[in-house]
Formats: sequence, structure tokens, C-alpha cells
Amino acid sequence: MAPSDKRVREIHKNSRVIARRYRVDKPRSFRLKDIDPGDTMGLKLRKQAKEILAEGVELMRDLQEKLYAQDRRAVLLIFQAMDAAGKDGTIEHVMSGVNPQGCEVHSFKGPSAAELDHDFLWRTNTKLPERGRIGIFNRSYYEETLVVRVHPEILGAQKLPPDLVTKRIWKERFEDINALESYLTRNGTVIRKFFLHVSHAEQKARFLARIDEPAKNWKFSLADARERRCWKDYMAAYEDMIRHTSTPEAPWYVIPADNKWFTRMAVAAVIVDTLESLDLAFPQVTKEQRRDLERARRELLAERKGGKKGR
Ligand code: ATP
Ligand code: MG
Repeated sequence: MAPSDKRVREIHKNSRVIARRYRVDKPRSFRLKDIDPGDTMGLKLRKQAKEILAEGVELMRDLQEKLYAQDRRAVLLIFQAMDAAGKDGTIEHVMSGVNPQGCEVHSFKGPSAAELDHDFLWRTNTKLPERGRIGIFNRSYYEETLVVRVHPEILGAQKLPPDLVTKRIWKERFEDINALESYLTRNGTVIRKFFLHVSHAEQKARFLARIDEPAKNWKFSLADARERRCWKDYMAAYEDMIRHTSTPEAPWYVIPADNKWFTRMAVAAVIVDTLESLDLAFPQVTKEQRRDLERARRELLAERKGGKKGR
């Protein structure tokens, strides 16, 4: 059932509070250690969060329909996280109510040989959402400043001319990403970026669960456990990335991820807040369109059984 108008206003208000809390507004002084992965904003009840999520999803469906009908803006949601932080589950739950025709998810893994033959923004550019759509990137070009930075041998395999690979390369990539995101924003794409912030201890617990529970075995690989050894390097890379690429037009949200129920609710809140800020409405019907609608009504009502046209 759709929430009442009063409840809708309450959800908007709460969504704004949640979105502001986790948005990185002062990137220069941002520190990852200031965000507690176990934070739940004092919300202790899973049940309460589930209700808020369900209502948020309901509202999102409505807002997305208007986004689609207006066909002016696109929304790009980028998800980055360490393994087992809950990206997949969050995307699944948060987008569960949205019309699949208005939404598409793209996952980016290690690049193919063809992708390595292009610049680092090429493969994601071909998957950007059209106007009226919500596009989700499950990992993204930001990996180019994360896994590639943590493992220099990956950079070595990118076939870049050697004189272009200097110690400035990460700063240059941040600049290129910021330029791309400004360009997209100026063309009507609204960008929001989520870092699901899981703790080292919670990742271990989730990995052990993936090993112990047969139904979760497929999610685990030895490589994931090995990657964990680079935790500190990853955290430093994430922090630097957020410091350089959280902008007013395309902000990062650092979402506590030790409690899945909270992560899902908080991400839904940010999306509701974002869509809400776009002033979405169904397009107004013009006089001509209204006349056509009336004519169509008359013609439909005048139809005779068997498909013969009435007079
Ligand atoms: P799951 O939760 O199922 O493990 P996943 O997103 O981790 O999902 P994987 O099959 O593990 O999926 O593949 C993603 C891997 O690809 C990650 O380790 C990521 O760092 C790596 N990757 C993504 N983009 C790049 C890139 N541009 N260069 C190198 N590696 C990349
Ligand atoms: Mg993985």
C-alpha cells in the first residue's frame, strides 16, 4: 500500500537527515576512521529499519516512474566496497521495487584484452544510463584508483606509454574522473557514489560464513582472503579517492556496512533524497494532446463489437 501524504513527507525528511549524515561534504579533511562501520544512528530495531526500507522503496518506484516519463535526466549510482561489504545484496534490495525497464545494473570486473586496448574510462562510458533511467555501477572506473593502485603490476599491464606513468598518475586519474563527472552532470546525469564501509573484523566473519555455509561457498574465493592482507593499502586508497573526488555535484556517501539491514536502509534513503531533490513530475499534457485524448476516447466508445467502426 502506498504511504499517506503525511508519511511521505516524514520519509523525505528522514531521508534528508540520513543523506546529510553520510555525505562527504568536506573532502579535504575527510578521514575514513571518523566513520564507524557499526554505526546505526541509534536505530536498534531491524524491524523498524525494514519498514523504513520498504516505504523508501515504494516511494522510489513512484519517483522513478516520473523520471522515466520526463525523460530529461539520468541517474548514475556507483557502488564501491571491499569484498563481502554487501554491494550485491544492497543493490538487490534497494532496487527491488523499481520497474526493471527503468533501471540497469552493470558490474565491472578485471578488464578484458579489448578493454585494456582503450583508455581507462572507455568501458564504463559505453554503459552510462540513458535519460529517464537509473544506471547502477557495481564497481566502476574508481577501481582504477583502488585495486590498480594497491597492485602496481596491474598498472604495468595496462599498456600505457611509459613516459605517461609517473608518480602523478593517481592525481591525474582523479582529475580525469572529476572532469568526466562534471561533464556528465552538465548533460543531465545525476551522480551519487556509495562506499559501503565494512570493518576488517566483520569482513572476516562474513568470509568464514561463506566457507562454513554450503549455499554461500560459491561467493568465496581464496583470492578474496589474500586481498584482505592488503587491507591497510586499500583503506588508504579509498580515503585518498574520496578526498579527491567527493564534489558537490557528485558526492560520495560513506555508508556504515557492518549491519546489512542498516546499509540497505541508508542507501535507499540517499536515493529517495536524490530523486526527491530533482523536482520530478509527470509531463503536462498540452492542449493538442488533450484534444487527441478526447478524440481517442470518442472513437473507442463508438467502436462496435467485432471491430467494425461506428459512425
Ligand atoms: P563478488 O561479491 O561476487 O565477489 P565482485 O564484484 O567482487 O563480486 P569478482 O568476480 O570478485 O566480483 O570481480 C571483481 C574483481 O575485479 C575485484 O577484485 C576488482 O578489484 C577487480 N577489478 C575491477 N575493475 C578492475 C580494473 N579496472 N582493473 C583490475 N581489476 C579490476
Ligand atoms: Mg569478489
